[in-house]
Amino acid sequence: MGHNNSGRGVGGGTVHFTGVFYRFHESDFRIKTMDGVADDWPITYKDLEYYYEKIEKDIAVSGPIHFPWGPFQGPYPYPQREPISANAQVFREGCERLGIISTVAPLAILSAPFDGRPPCINRGFCNQGCKPNAKFSTLIHHIPKAIGYGAEVLSDCMVTHVKVDKKGRVEGVTFVQDGKEYFQKAKITIISAFCIETPRLLLNSACPQFPDGLANSSCMVGKELMTHSGHDIFAKFHDEVRLYKGTPVLAVSQEFYETDASRDFVRGYTFNAHGARPLGLAKNLVSKGGIWRQKLYDIMRDYNFFSQITMVGEVLPDKNNSIDIMDWC
Ligand code: SF4
Repeated sequence: MGHNNSGRGVGGGTVHFTGVFYRFHESDFRIKTMDGVADDWPITYKDLEYYYEKIEKDIAVSGPIHFPWGPFQGPYPYPQREPISANAQVFREGCERLGIISTVAPLAILSAPFDGRPPCINRGFCNQGCKPNAKFSTLIHHIPKAIGYGAEVLSDCMVTHVKVDKKGRVEGVTFVQDGKEYFQKAKITIISAFCIETPRLLLNSACPQFPDGLANSSCMVGKELMTHSGHDIFAKFHDEVRLYKGTPVLAVSQEFYETDASRDFVRGYTFNAHGARPLGLAKNLVSKGGIWRQKLYDIMRDYNFFSQITMVGEVLPDKNNSIDIMDWC
């Protein structure tokens, strides 16, 4: 599942996410009804629509005037990012030749100044945190505002346990800082630590009243995790593409997003023109491809000539995809 699914650190996953800001389609919530697999969600796209709109405006998402797929077809609050990277251009030209519709990706990355922050300068370090703060993260957007309203942020702490009182109501959390344990009493406790750390904490908070962990009467906490798949396709070109330039994803096609009866599988995927950075590519070649020594050297020597597409697919719920607490004793 990769190194970046943790949710630890102030700002959580938004610090390192690529900034791609898609909305779900209506079909994503009704896959049992429509495709006979998995289950329908208890909510619909309509239930989320207001919140999509609100957050897109709140953080000035940039995107095309017309987004061709799904229930929301633009315009986005801020204009699309220009210019697009060479990798995105190669992708869009290829799509055009094949008659596949593509567009510039909607991004939580500024295309013009906003809220005291500058627009993107296309240096490409979005996954490392974006030094000029052109990319949105809660670390640079919501958290400073919350501090302005009087919030206190305790960084370098790890919550280890959510404590409940005799009545079974949450009364606060235990956390560790510099090896010392503290208890923070709270009227309201909100656990928002992404899909790995949240179930881990809830399961670790098992107690005599709740031996299976908190909020787990269904025994589904941490079960049937639905991440997205990501399959990369690389092609070497005669001209330099320089994958490291620009934000990692700048062009997209969702032409293959929905179930298509002519294919031998249900559901679909998004094509992202995606630019791996040299270190990321080398790491993947070694760890996932088992490529090493001369072959690795040869591929990395030609790094500037590679173009990349990532297929982001839907992973259906599966009981084997789960978070469990290991007993190391
Ligand atoms: S390309 Fe650079 S400036 Fe633009 S969002 Fe990424 S890190 Fe920030």
